[in-house]
Amino acid sequence: MKAVRIIKANDLQIVEMEKPVIGGEQNVLVKMKAAGICGSDVGIYHGTNAAATYPRVIGHEIVGVVEEVGPDVTKVKVGDRVIIDQVTACGHCYACSKNRPNVCGNLQVRGVHIDGGYREYIAVNETDCYLLPDTLSDEDAVMIEPTTIAVQCCSRAQLEKEDSVLIIGAGALGSSILRIVKLYQPRKIIVADIDDAKLEEALKAGATDVVNSKTEDLVKRCHELTDGYGPTVSIDAACVKGSLLNALEATGNAGRVITMGFSVAPDEVNQFVITSKELDVRGSRLQNRKFQTVIDLVKEGKIDLTGSISHRFHFLDAQKAFDLVDSRDPSIRKIVLTFE
Ligand code: MN
Ligand code: ZN
Repeated sequence: MKAVRIIKANDLQIVEMEKPVIGGEQNVLVKMKAAGICGSDVGIYHGTNAAATYPRVIGHEIVGVVEEVGPDVTKVKVGDRVIIDQVTACGHCYACSKNRPNVCGNLQVRGVHIDGGYREYIAVNETDCYLLPDTLSDEDAVMIEPTTIAVQCCSRAQLEKEDSVLIIGAGALGSSILRIVKLYQPRKIIVADIDDAKLEEALKAGATDVVNSKTEDLVKRCHELTDGYGPTVSIDAACVKGSLLNALEATGNAGRVITMGFSVAPDEVNQFVITSKELDVRGSRLQNRKFQTVIDLVKEGKIDLTGSISHRFHFLDAQKAFDLVDSRDPSIRKIVLTFE
């Protein structure tokens, strides 16, 4: 079978690989149908993802159809359409014992530490397979994964109706988060970005207020919009230099600040801003078994995952797809690789 492998930074090749066989833990064989391209895939391609190891078959937004199952499999059957959880955990470390496999001490993420889904077949455990709703096409279903990231972040924030929420960044991550934050019906949803077009989209998508942090004083505006108190939850979905300090300064007393960035570049913050308001600063990484939650939200009609895909490429043309990403074409939303 063929696969898209990143040999080393900036070296993408289509390679021939052995078709996986099922057995033991990997008791379900899935034939790939669609796979999304995520910012983290692009980071691994360019060598800027500190977690990744090479060579690597990338891809973690992976949708397919069950082709073969082992004798004891009960969760899925041949012909089922599924999305695959990218997190694999050891099950016995401290994090795993606290039901947080997404930060397992021996974490292996598909497409990052172990081979992912840009290939014709993948063998996985049945527990990592989630049945897709009939209403969602294979291609639209890749959006379930980015949505799990947003659900995870709201869960880490312990979001409640009485919160006022600040989302910094209105790109792909920020807009997924906005979609989920809305479901909590918080008092305010303030979205900040430096791009007016994205802020316009955020307003249409349900933000109550938007701030252009390039032309306006973000912290001051956030205080004005929340009767001087500040948002009680701030989510840093921009993850750029200075965005964390902005979030800390904007957030009101006893609030929560959620970080999502993966940069290892130093960024200055001070203790006073955290201690004086007794802020909870929490990381949100990947997702902790949130696939079923998102699938249920789709089934209940609470979220609509259609309409996010802007470009499609056959997986053998993956180079063209990554070149398009590099062009930073403003029409890019979600790019999907197909396998037919
Ligand atoms: Mn992703
Ligand atoms: Zn573990």
